[in-house]
Amino acid sequence: MKITLMRAAACLALFGSAFAHAQTYPTKTITMIVPFAAGGPTDTVARLVAQSMGNKLKQQIIIENVGGAGGTIGAARVAKAAPDGYTLFLHHIGHSTAPSLYRKLSYNAQTDFEPIGLVTDVPMTIVARKDFPAKDIKEFLSYVKANKDKVTYANAGVGSASHLCGMLLMTAMGTDLTTVPYKGTGPAMNDLLGGQVDIMCDQTTNTTSQIKSGKIKAYAVTTKTRLANMPDLPTLNESGLPGFEVAVWHGLYAPKGTPKQIVDTLAGALQTALKDPNVKTRFADLGTEPVAEKRATPEALRAHVKAEIERWSPIISKAGVYAD
Ligand code: ASP
Repeated sequence: MKITLMRAAACLALFGSAFAHAQTYPTKTITMIVPFAAGGPTDTVARLVAQSMGNKLKQQIIIENVGGAGGTIGAARVAKAAPDGYTLFLHHIGHSTAPSLYRKLSYNAQTDFEPIGLVTDVPMTIVARKDFPAKDIKEFLSYVKANKDKVTYANAGVGSASHLCGMLLMTAMGTDLTTVPYKGTGPAMNDLLGGQVDIMCDQTTNTTSQIKSGKIKAYAVTTKTRLANMPDLPTLNESGLPGFEVAVWHGLYAPKGTPKQIVDTLAGALQTALKDPNVKTRFADLGTEPVAEKRATPEALRAHVKAEIERWSPIISKAGVYAD
């Protein structure tokens, strides 16, 4: 009897503390790791979403940029972080390509993370320094082919979206270019603006304002259809590279083992952020939109990561691109 009572008391205490935890989270500032440099497109998406989620959760969410190696350095950091809801991770399509591209990864992209939800699918644009000689996409493709030994292509390292887009572009054109890797396309954009590097393929969340203010040249978009906010920009699909299509999906994660109540709280805050008029307007200005609510869920992101790993694996092994 005494033992039973003690057990019951212990159970109550345990249940009580779990309940209190669920009731009080979050009690302090949350850190959202972005695996690319500040000022780039993933960083821009993360900052908008973090601010709105923070309002909903009544706690600040700060961004920590851990760039390098196409996002894998940041991912490795999150995989080892405490699963207490105070470390989050906003990454993009690269999370699903890294397992095929890197010979050695210190983490498992599926089993070391708790998916929270998808965030947005961002189109990419082919851009160049302002004084790049080609006047349209047709001239761009023939100029790049004819000058393949001197044209430089900026990217954010193996496995980044800019690397993938470049890989697909070079394969479609049958041309290899010299690539210049950065810790993110924020710093790559600075060099494109300064004319130190020639061309890049990057998310509209980084390129739209520079294109609209005429500081860089834009040649094409990577989506199957043209963009509402830049309707004059042709698609690659209609410009001699039929079937060319890349959109950069972004997902939000926590480290594996983060309690389900916390993951659910975060998914709810993400869904609220994606309906926030300020987030929607800023996304629209940047050429993108939030995903539908049913995709901003742990189940949808878990299934998406698995499907994307399976989709990219044969494409990458056929291309024969690997990194150590
Ligand atoms: N757009 C970059 C990429 O190529 C990453 C970034 O800086 O956000 O993946």
